[in-house]
Amino acid sequence: MMDVATAQILDGKRCSEALKAEIAKGAAAVKADRGRAPHLAAVLVGNDGASRTYVEAKVKACEAVGFRSTLIRRPETTTEDDLLHLVQGLNADDTLDGFIVQLPLPSHIREERVTLAVDPRKDVDGFHPVNIGNMVLGHDGFLPATPSGICELLKHYSIETAGKHCVVVGRSNIVGTPMSILMSRNAYPGNCTVTLAHSRTKDLGAITRQADILIVAVGRPEFISADMVKDGAVVVDVGIHRIEDATRKSGFRLLGDVRYNEVAAKATWITPVPGGVGPMTITSLLLNTLKAAQR
Ligand code: NDP
Repeated sequence: MMDVATAQILDGKRCSEALKAEIAKGAAAVKADRGRAPHLAAVLVGNDGASRTYVEAKVKACEAVGFRSTLIRRPETTTEDDLLHLVQGLNADDTLDGFIVQLPLPSHIREERVTLAVDPRKDVDGFHPVNIGNMVLGHDGFLPATPSGICELLKHYSIETAGKHCVVVGRSNIVGTPMSILMSRNAYPGNCTVTLAHSRTKDLGAITRQADILIVAVGRPEFISADMVKDGAVVVDVGIHRIEDATRKSGFRLLGDVRYNEVAAKATWITPVPGGVGPMTITSLLLNTLKAAQR
């Protein structure tokens, strides 16, 4: 029998449209005040198809809210020194408010060195240790885009978080770990009791079944099944996977880390893939860029 979805949708597309309307107003005010629109640059090294798609979507999103954007492409063979030199140039460029270096980088370039080279004041991805430190301490700074986008989504739908048990599955530096910190801070969204699970967690299902709010960033298609989810949970699926599908015109379909249909039958709220976390990530980048321009 087909599972019947009962959960309400945490609609990232709709939420990001509402936020983008506000960002566009902010961009117009910056332009009126400073004589130029907020300006974001994106550096893309190599030819990875998924990275190209992400960067192009970011550039397009900038145009839609009245930002200026610059796409800087470098070949796969670019050396670490060349890239660091480029980053230093962008740090010093007064016409730029912020920039991102799209990850992953080719394996001969150490991502950590590049992340550290970005001026924290222009680090609109929120990956620099100074911004991570500010997040941990609750100081002002740039929050990493995906976790802060999820917070915006929870806020948009007035999801209650205080006192809830939030289980985050996955502890990457860009998603799981900062997400766990944001959900445990003394703020809204936040004030959760947080469990951070990873590949060494024993009996993961027993942990995820305790979650009032379950945030999944594992990077494995349809990893979370209904039997791992508590009745009535709020489920946020960060994963995104292109799965070949000859029946689709595009030749592929997108899946998340969660088995959507069966989990939606149990949850009260759930993010779809696509249209959940993805659009919120890009919108957070725009929010950070606007903030950089307003400083
Ligand atoms: P990473 O691969 O960096 O991290 C995956 C995490 O999952 C690791 O911490 C790993 O644990 C954990 N993990 C792996 N296998 C298991 C398991 N069997 N049980 C429990 N934990 C496990 O992924 P990211 O955080 O970068 O991304 C996660 C997913 O989100 C990907 O599909 C990615 O494409 C997507 N994504 C989507 C974004 C969006 O905007 N929608 C933005 C960023 C990412 P350990 O640390 O022990 O290895």
